[in-house]
Amino acid sequence: MRHASHQLPVAKPVLDEREVEAVRRVVLSGWVTQGPEVAAFESEFADFVGAPHACAVSNCTNALHLALKCVGVGAGDEVITVSHSFIATANAIRYCDALPVFVDIETSGYNMDPDLVEAAITPRTKAILCVHQLGMPCDLRRVVEIAKRHAIPVIEDAACAAGSEILWQGQWERIGKPHGDIACFSFHPRKVVTTGDGGMLTTANVEHDRKFRLWRQHSMSVPDTVRHGARQVIYEGYAELGYNYRMTDLQAAIGREQLKRLGALVSRRRELAEQYTERLSPVAGLQTPGEPAWARSNWQSYCVGLSEWIDQRETMQALLDCGISSRRGVMNIHLEKAYVGSETHRAATSLTRSVVAQQTSVILPLFAQMSNADVALAVDTLLSIIAVASPTALQAL
Ligand SMILES: *Cc1c(COP(=O)(O)O)cnc(C)c1O
Repeated sequence: MRHASHQLPVAKPVLDEREVEAVRRVVLSGWVTQGPEVAAFESEFADFVGAPHACAVSNCTNALHLALKCVGVGAGDEVITVSHSFIATANAIRYCDALPVFVDIETSGYNMDPDLVEAAITPRTKAILCVHQLGMPCDLRRVVEIAKRHAIPVIEDAACAAGSEILWQGQWERIGKPHGDIACFSFHPRKVVTTGDGGMLTTANVEHDRKFRLWRQHSMSVPDTVRHGARQVIYEGYAELGYNYRMTDLQAAIGREQLKRLGALVSRRRELAEQYTERLSPVAGLQTPGEPAWARSNWQSYCVGLSEWIDQRETMQALLDCGISSRRGVMNIHLEKAYVGSETHRAATSLTRSVVAQQTSVILPLFAQMSNADVALAVDTLLSIIAVASPTALQAL
């Protein structure tokens, strides 16, 4: 097939001279890790999402580890989550020597089915780790309701959800404003805003926040920032096991610039997603992602379901032959080799919907720099591929 001149990646970070200038400022300041830029980024992020506390760390996986540890998850405990997620979600549970307990996803969409959560609770359940998959808020209101009834903490894997919103008691609120106990964000380049790598924990609980700050820096009793400014000699102590989960000031300076763009990035992404949905939702054989009336996604990814007569791999290859990158839908953790064996996880429900979703969904290109013509090109190409798979499919248009 002809090699397309127009290459459309599936995602692309928005970075320019503003981020370069920010890093330059930090390099020349001489303070390059967990200093004033991290503190400023934390307070700006907390303001953005509406959280009393925000603590920056090296990535979201480590944020999840600290969050789980903080609510007391330890050896022999169980944490209810989904298999239909990036592997880091369940890995963080295993870092605590606890057992991931998987429930299936909803019939429509890629998030945890709240109807399945309550029956999965056992005396060992120490937390519910829900995921706002691909940036789409999960049914947090119902998850929190169930958790409250059983006095179990809720941790949100909000890795993809910076800038997403949820209708909460009649108000639109950003994910990260504490609805559960702790929310964890990622700033990996595949997310809507990036610091290269990076993570953030938000919470309303001052004691949680204090622990995050202690543990992320080896549990050192006196942070560098305090010793640096002290007029007297101070000896630090290490009362418990800690970690090096610091974010650098270089990353935080980039993050502060990214945060200024986030609102505009999400608006543009929502326009692009709407264009996809407008063109693709009438097409027989495709299931466009729905947005519940109580959710506003940042559309970190736009994932389309394919009917059984449309082959996933062939469709992705045909798109690629035309210069359009795509990705398979979200993975299933329980199908990976690292999750073989009853000591690695427990499936509390059938995981059929999760498995089918992985096998029959495709993530289409979506990034803020895309033009409307790029979306049209991706749509036209996909439709021509489906028309070949079944010429009758386009009659629905
Ligand atoms: C990206 C992602 C993570 C991991 O984030 P890192 O910052 O790369 O550690 C965790 N959970 C989900 C759902 C993700 O998409």
